[in-house]
Amino acid sequence: MSASAQSGQQHLINNLDATSEGFDFLDLKAQFATIREEVIFSVLSVMESQKFILGDEVRLFEEEVAAMMSAKYAVGCASGSDALMLALMAAGIQTGDEVITTPFTFVATAGSIARLGAKPVFVDIDPDTFNIDVKQIESAVTSATQAIMPIHLFGLPADLDPILSLAKAKDIAVIEDAAQAIGAKYNGRYVGTIGTFGCFSFFPSKNLGCAGDGGLVTTEDAILADRLRLLRVHGSRKKYQHEIVGVNSRLDSLQAAILRVKLGHLGNWTSARQMLAMRYAELFEAYGLVGEVKLPHVADSGSEAVFNQFTIRSKKRDELRDFLRAAGIPSEIYYPVPLHLQPAFNYLGYGKGQFPESERACQEVLSLPIYPELSSARQVAVVRGISDFYKTRL
Ligand SMILES: *Cc1c(COP(=O)(O)O)cnc(C)c1O
Repeated sequence: MSASAQSGQQHLINNLDATSEGFDFLDLKAQFATIREEVIFSVLSVMESQKFILGDEVRLFEEEVAAMMSAKYAVGCASGSDALMLALMAAGIQTGDEVITTPFTFVATAGSIARLGAKPVFVDIDPDTFNIDVKQIESAVTSATQAIMPIHLFGLPADLDPILSLAKAKDIAVIEDAAQAIGAKYNGRYVGTIGTFGCFSFFPSKNLGCAGDGGLVTTEDAILADRLRLLRVHGSRKKYQHEIVGVNSRLDSLQAAILRVKLGHLGNWTSARQMLAMRYAELFEAYGLVGEVKLPHVADSGSEAVFNQFTIRSKKRDELRDFLRAAGIPSEIYYPVPLHLQPAFNYLGYGKGQFPESERACQEVLSLPIYPELSSARQVAVVRGISDFYKTRL
């Protein structure tokens, strides 16, 4: 064994000692501990009322979340996936229509399009932002294109201006998948309020998470908001009178009550995530790792990322992840397989090599722990672990 490999082994051992207890990638219990009484009180009051479907809690949450992001209308629904589907339905997307999005995202983005019988048309990502490469959108537009669905992946705002001007010229909708980006800003405006629709998820691991599934659609258009409200209750304004064919996709009153409590803390939690992201950048710099790993793109002035994930890139991602796991340091891969190579989307006829940046991202990305309550000791342990890995490779 060479001297450097030996010293690498020694580092691994030191590191094991330092973090041998291990910790979780995401610790939701730490957050609950800070809001326990408030949440229990609000859940109890819904239970006492025995009013579980829509009602005041949902209406008030919709008003409060709309005010928070300066959106005109907000319509709660059963999940982020349904938010995307309802927005597509309200935009009139149907069989045979094409909707442009990227293959580097959570499956629901393209799944919502496919569920309506429409066709997801993929465009590759910009490797710096993980978001849709705006330069490649125009050549994907056909006479069947009815919408563009950009994703603000990991809480990093997508470059919306070129998308909006193209959509305007072609008279098509822009449906923002803001599931990971509540509170993020693009040119001073909240993402999700800039396109035709903004779609949000309250899945527990999102920046504003409920106690199960929940979602929301925002829009600036009164007619579209009315349509969303109809669609989520079987197309019905009056009991047993159905104007259009809709679905059952409501935000539960219980979830809305919990979300109202948590919304009051979102600003502080977002600041904490942004501080942690800055600190990660400082630590990677201090450990001399900036050449080895690529850090997430920091938003331009006027834009703000909210870091639902802190996702780095490494050419040795799999080895790095194994090394960290052995040292008790958690990490995750979002996402290991691009959607165009998923069996579910075989029928679209795409093949390997067609979206090289998305495919490369799937090989190189590694998400590190980031949540408001993450301690600085653990954050240092993560970066030190990565540093130890690269020392063993010298
Ligand atoms: C979480 C997520 C969704 C779906 O949200 P659910 O509430 O889990 O249905 C959609 N798109 C993206 C990018 C997501 O991260």
